[in-house]
Amino acid sequence: MKTTSDLGDLRGKRVLVRSDLNVPLDGTTITDDGRIRASAPTIKGLADAGARVIVCAHLGRPKGAPEAKYSLAPVAKRLGEVLGSDVVFADDTVGDDAKAKAAALEDGQVLLLENLRFNAGETAKTDEERAGFAGELASLADVFVSDGFGVVHRKQASVYDVARLLPHATGDLVSTEVDVLRRLTKDPERPYAVVLGGAKVSDKLGVIGNLLGTADRLLIGGGMVFTFLAAQGHEVGKSLLESDQIDTVKGYLERAEKEGVEIVLPVDVVAADAFSADADHEVVAVDAIPADRMGLDIGPESSALFADKLADCRTVFWNGPMGAFEMEPYAAGTKALAEALVDITARGALTVVGGGDSAAAVRQLGFQDEQFGHISTGGGASLEYLEGKELPGLTVLEEGDA
Ligand code: ADP
Ligand code: MG
Repeated sequence: MKTTSDLGDLRGKRVLVRSDLNVPLDGTTITDDGRIRASAPTIKGLADAGARVIVCAHLGRPKGAPEAKYSLAPVAKRLGEVLGSDVVFADDTVGDDAKAKAAALEDGQVLLLENLRFNAGETAKTDEERAGFAGELASLADVFVSDGFGVVHRKQASVYDVARLLPHATGDLVSTEVDVLRRLTKDPERPYAVVLGGAKVSDKLGVIGNLLGTADRLLIGGGMVFTFLAAQGHEVGKSLLESDQIDTVKGYLERAEKEGVEIVLPVDVVAADAFSADADHEVVAVDAIPADRMGLDIGPESSALFADKLADCRTVFWNGPMGAFEMEPYAAGTKALAEALVDITARGALTVVGGGDSAAAVRQLGFQDEQFGHISTGGGASLEYLEGKELPGLTVLEEGDA
């Protein structure tokens, strides 16, 4: 893969950069600007080299047409603050405004295009349907830099197709992410533990299957743990449960046993009578979850157990919060897990936090990014990489220029 330094003198060149600026918004307020801060160095590097930088990105899941609540306008403002220079904003993606503003850019200036997904061609299923939009994007620029790690597993116009139309390079953020993932998959320092949590077990089953071949320990918490507990015969009350996955999970538990992978499940949970911060809640053992309650966090004994299982690890990948951390009474398990990772990071272990909510959780709980080895900007992409899948947005970069 070529890096931006292989692109030669960029002064005066129009560089289209695909970034991942998909930040959580409360109205027009950005509640976690991590992805903007992570994307800024590549953009700044190009601008400092004299390029006319045209940034494209998506926000949320609009259905192929403009929707005010998904506008990138607040992101343009914040990006300007992070870069320390004004960012021009186009109120369409490839329309008259984008064309005019791209043409008027001066050396070192940065333009952000409106949400890519306001255009049906961005996420269309067939190559033919994406081609027109990809062509319009490509016509704005001379070269393409792929830096949206959160979308490299997507075969989308701004990720895949445009790279086939323009000379291209891998941005620094994508390079860094891929380097870290390589360290997790190629001969990781052991013991190597993977911690999985979050809401949906079906999202993460594929990666569990693949990890049984590489990880030494698999720690499971969050909403997905109740499908595991149910597979072991426990009653889980009103907790999240994917009953159609119980058999698959049983199969994994057996395989883990055979392959000598230790699966660590919580021994206690915080059980609440409703999915709400002011619900009545208590700590119960996993074999005593009341029928009318739901587990919303791992309990204190489990937190201690998980910390103990991580203490000697040299490599840890963590995806998915241990509980419904957005509500204060159910944040302790996620906080304890983050603390355990911070401790081993300080002792030289490689720790990687992947997943949008996991990254938001550690920041919301007061941790600094620097306390972890790496906070990934792409939960889905990193999971698919660890699952051993091909990521189209990386394959196309490896293919080289058309
Ligand atoms: P990530 O974005 O890090 O990959 P996920 O999207 O898989 O994580 O899951 C995050 C969500 O899981 C959070 O919104 C959190 O509230 C929810 N969650 C975690 N534990 C539970 C639980 N026990 N019950 C319900 N929801 C949970
Ligand atoms: Mg999520």
